[in-house]
Amino acid sequence: MSDLRELYQEVILDHGKRPRNFRVLEGADGQAEGYNPLCGDRVTVYVKLADGVIDDVSFQGAGCAISTASASMMTSVLKGKTMAEVEDMCGRFQAMITGAGGAADDDGALGSLEALAGVREFPTRVKCASLAWHTFRAALKGDQSDVKTD
Ligand code: ZN
Repeated sequence: MSDLRELYQEVILDHGKRPRNFRVLEGADGQAEGYNPLCGDRVTVYVKLADGVIDDVSFQGAGCAISTASASMMTSVLKGKTMAEVEDMCGRFQAMITGAGGAADDDGALGSLEALAGVREFPTRVKCASLAWHTFRAALKGDQSDVKTD
């Protein structure tokens, strides 16, 4: 089993302690709430669209370092992305944290998010890392129902 210190890399600790885009987004086009009962993580994701791109995205909530860091990094990378790019990143991220499809050979498109690749060694942590993403997709669809990780 991988060392936990690897999982909690500096970048994760940094985002976990000082989350980016941690605020309510006024005038959001969509928002959704997510809950991970395994860990107790709660997150609300807000999204604003303009001309088919993510104009702004933010989140609020309380959870473990992994869930907070994942949400923080997600909001950082999604801003300014088109819907096609968003779909692509969601797929890549999910593949990376679950270890599906040889994601280890990723071309670097996920940037700092790759710090979260280590969660694949810890099945319960995969849900912490994916919570914000599931919730983001629900917010994008305007789905007001609560998101649960399973
Ligand atoms: Zn968690």
